[in-house]
Amino acid sequence: MAAKIIDGKVIAAEIRTEVKADVGRLKQAGLTPCLAVVLVGKNPASRSYVGSKVRACEETGITSLKIEIAANAKEQDLLDQIDKLNRDINVHGILVQLPLPHHMDEERVTERIDPAKDVDGFHPENVGKLSIGLDGLTPCTPSGVPELISRSGLSLSGKHAVIIGRSNIVGKPLMNILMQKGEKANCTVTCCHSGTDHLANYTRQADILIAAIGVPEFVTAGMVKDGATVIDVGINRVDDSEHSRGYRLVGDVAYHDVRDVAGAITPVPGGVGPMTVAMLMKNTVKATRMISGV
Ligand code: NAD
Repeated sequence: MAAKIIDGKVIAAEIRTEVKADVGRLKQAGLTPCLAVVLVGKNPASRSYVGSKVRACEETGITSLKIEIAANAKEQDLLDQIDKLNRDINVHGILVQLPLPHHMDEERVTERIDPAKDVDGFHPENVGKLSIGLDGLTPCTPSGVPELISRSGLSLSGKHAVIIGRSNIVGKPLMNILMQKGEKANCTVTCCHSGTDHLANYTRQADILIAAIGVPEFVTAGMVKDGATVIDVGINRVDDSEHSRGYRLVGDVAYHDVRDVAGAITPVPGGVGPMTVAMLMKNTVKATRMISGV
């Protein structure tokens, strides 16, 4: 039987609608959530990501503040800007769009953001809270994964989730999210990576298989258990002269091959991608509530 297609666009729109309603309630209480997005330089991909974040703010009623810093600015200029936003009581969320130019230290910049306003969830304080199960701000892309699964009517609790990838922005936080207690988690988690021997031995045991590798169509049907839920975090450009842009986007999963064995699968694009911005909106409202105690 063909796999159920998990539609990230529909689920992300559902979350943005919920956020909009929540923002409405906050506004009635005299509070307007505000997200500051800092863009350093003119990287076209970063500009496009920032654009979609600003548009999602407009849709949900969140105020957005876009701050542009020249690519050749000093790191100190960026740190000063973050300090200013940390002090601003009208700003509830701060996001510095990565990657930064090479002369800027991403770790130092991330650590400068007030953890209470760290809507990307990358500050060590939020990373620590997630790992010991305390309430904090969790990274947007991995937070979207259990939402995609549970809102598709599939269960997580008690399932064996196998993650391929151990990055700080996807693999590791996802491991921590899925192993916590709770309805949208409570998985037994295996995390595989570039040092894993006999990878397919692990992936074939997965009830839920998540690929966050960055290698086009890496996961093939032979690596997937019949009926598994397959979540593809990967976004890769591959050359394609038939497309007007000269490339097309593919995931880390060989979609057409794997959907014949999977029980459910996310497409690329239109799966995990749209969830990241929706979860950012959710985090901004959460930060607003936590900071103001409303
Ligand atoms: P990364 O390069 O930081 O990490 C990749 C991970 O894959 C590493 O931990 C590595 O150990 C593992 N890996 C690499 N080759 C492997 C192999 N042969 N076998 C097993 N493991 C292997 O990448 P990332 O930042 O975690 O991103 C992963 C993918 O997800 C990329 O395609 C990226 O574009 C995409 N991504 C999408 C979103 C989104 O949808 N919004 C957000 C972040 C990342």
